[in-house]
Amino acid sequence: MKPLLKLSDVNSYYGKIRALNDINLEINKGEIVTLLGSNGAGKSTTLKTISSIIRPKSGEIEWNGQSIVGLPPHKIVELGIIHVPEGRRIFGGLTVTENLELGAYVFRKNKKWVKEGIERSFDLFPRLKERSKQLAGTLSGGEQQMVAISRGLMGDPKLLMLDEPSMGLAPIIVQEIMKIIQEINKQGTTILLIEQNAKAALRLANRGYLIEIGNIIMSDTADVLREDDKIIKAYLGV
Ligand code: ATP
Repeated sequence: MKPLLKLSDVNSYYGKIRALNDINLEINKGEIVTLLGSNGAGKSTTLKTISSIIRPKSGEIEWNGQSIVGLPPHKIVELGIIHVPEGRRIFGGLTVTENLELGAYVFRKNKKWVKEGIERSFDLFPRLKERSKQLAGTLSGGEQQMVAISRGLMGDPKLLMLDEPSMGLAPIIVQEIMKIIQEINKQGTTILLIEQNAKAALRLANRGYLIEIGNIIMSDTADVLREDDKIIKAYLGV
């Protein structure tokens, strides 16, 4: 079976600086794949390249076997590749519900779908239902992350790419968010998860990639990565 998403020898630059160096990565339908690495390794750049926010200088990106390199970002969204960026980027001056409605812009003509999508989000995050009319900027960090993920779900993702959903959150909230990511996956959405919290990510993921200075230096099942000496020393805080 063809992978859902395949990156082959992808190189991305910021001006003259090469941020991604011949990246090869595959995601199969139904998986949770995690991309691990320290600050500045190139994790966010990988997601931005897949979303077409950055166009790779060379290499191929295939979605179900079809090249998607050079498509405008909104076309990538329409394919079902949804990026929940680092730092949440929700609209603080809008309510929770309004933020979710914005996430559905691909389907904006279909009011019924938008309504059902909001209900689905509220089923996953009952806390957001209670706060549906609250301005998103007044929510806690964890709740804002819930809004960011829900807004991503409103785009009906086939692949949901999450950039550091646990950033700045208390351990108990991290656990809650991770559980919900697992639930979203169980309901059929493939997940690409960027995490500095390698322990939490490897508990959830089927497979993982380790990226250092723009290079994928390791890729294996989560079970193998969890036992790897280098990963344990550098990323699992032992
Ligand atoms: P972090 O977790 O700190 O965000 P990351 O692994 O996501 O790390 P990237 O944001 O992908 O790292 O950055 C990869 C490299 O590209 C870094 O050296 C970074 O300084 C550089 N970089 C990122 N964005 C830009 C930009 N807009 N202009 C120039 N260089 C950039």
